[in-house]
Amino acid sequence: MSEKFDVIVIGAGPSGNAAAYTLAQAGLSVLQIERGESPGSKNVQGAILYADALEKIIPDFREDAPLERHIIEQRMWVLDEDSFIGSHYRSDAFNQQPYNRYTIIRSQFDKWFSERVRKAGALLICETTVVQLLLDGQRVVGVMTDRQGGEIHADVVILADGVNSLLAKNAGFHPELKAGDVALAVKEIHFMPQEVIEQRFNVANEEGVVIEMMGKITQGMMGTGFLYTNRESVTIGVGCMLSDFKTQQMSPNELLEHMKAHPSIKPLLQGGEMKEYTAHLIPEGGFHAMPKLYGEGWMIVGDAGMFVNAVHREGSNLAMTSGRLAAETVIELKASGLDFNATHLSRYKSRLDESFVMKDLKKYKDMPDVFHTNPQFFNDYPELLSKAVRTMLTVDGVDKKTKEKEIRKSFRSRRSLFGLVGDTLKLWRAFE
Ligand SMILES: Cc1cc2nc3c(=O)[nH]c(=O)nc-3n(C[C@H](O)[C@H](O)[C@H](O)COP(=O)(O)OP(=O)(O)OC[C@H]3O[C@@H](n4cnc5c(N)ncnc54)[C@H](O)[C@@H]3O)c2cc1C
Repeated sequence: MSEKFDVIVIGAGPSGNAAAYTLAQAGLSVLQIERGESPGSKNVQGAILYADALEKIIPDFREDAPLERHIIEQRMWVLDEDSFIGSHYRSDAFNQQPYNRYTIIRSQFDKWFSERVRKAGALLICETTVVQLLLDGQRVVGVMTDRQGGEIHADVVILADGVNSLLAKNAGFHPELKAGDVALAVKEIHFMPQEVIEQRFNVANEEGVVIEMMGKITQGMMGTGFLYTNRESVTIGVGCMLSDFKTQQMSPNELLEHMKAHPSIKPLLQGGEMKEYTAHLIPEGGFHAMPKLYGEGWMIVGDAGMFVNAVHREGSNLAMTSGRLAAETVIELKASGLDFNATHLSRYKSRLDESFVMKDLKKYKDMPDVFHTNPQFFNDYPELLSKAVRTMLTVDGVDKKTKEKEIRKSFRSRRSLFGLVGDTLKLWRAFE
């Protein structure tokens, strides 16, 4: 293929699709290259779709996108070995159109998005891996694929190749990923009849519930679990930092099995048929772990740029937004007849800085470090809180003052007063 394109987009996940769609809509010549046999075949996500990010790219997406359920209830559970303390937020406001969050099945969603990209005019080639970026000095001028005669040129290359981003690493744009900056997540999809889901989770047709979980289910490792309701299935998963898995003698699969056996979780999966098991890395290093995002003729979007807000479990929306902002930068430069050098492409970074993407990542910049160095938040506190609630709720002839004393004693036996105050401050700082 000797043709030269305005833009080559590597990867057909949410970030690559957002970039390719926006560029093609604006009339630029776009080649998108995906190594999977079809878009979505290599992709893993929970998955919650945040409508706002997609709406800004495809305003009418609700007309034909494969959406499972709109989420009307959010649960947050803190678990110990046999109990959970939970908060449930359910609102009729989430049941008014246009809905704000949906569950999706990524393999179906990515195929739909990709079809929209093709209709917008981009050329997509699948089952093709970009093996190297083509450089002319410092400048990226195209890509080398694993196809015969696989050199393809473009004015600018957008790397939307996901968390591993081997291409950026090989070109020296991206340092090696540290095990402390990525989580390894595993998830399963359990199929069950629609009416069972609706009864079990107390929802009507197309309404959905998500449960976010933390505590003993991660065995002291920094991580969280989740359970999402789809139309005829339930997705369950858990993810912890890769560095923690390396020191803990438990595999991700064992962790998930242990979580599924929890007395509060098991009944939610009962009778389901497990049909899909997948594992994937999530870049959770946050603001401090971000690589350089642009250079001479190139930009990085999505997971490849560490755009994940682990606190709020947002990734695909940051991916789509960064893809859109990269595309808008190219469109603006092209319209002004400006070159795609690093100085001009820095406008992408300015756009990111002004958006919720960088603002949120900056807000939680200390969070990964705080949680990573303080395993008590995943271990001791869930257990202590659960014990405290159980003590107060058990009516056994012991007066409440004595019970409060007992609770205080149990906290002090695990954390000194200094430790307790310090932990409160650490939490405050992490979420400030
Ligand atoms: C278990 C799990 C649950 C999650 N849950 C949520 C959730 O509920 N909500 C949410 O918003 N986010 C969630 N995320 C995060 C979300 O999935 C990611 O942030 C998002 O997929 C990033 O999109 P992306 O396009 O940057 O990367 P990807 O989706 O990883 O896409 C990258 C694409 O590039 C292709 N590619 C890679 N290398 C090459 C190459 N050399 N040549 C050609 N193609 C290549 C890959 O095949 C892939 O299709 C979750 C992630 C995981 C793992």
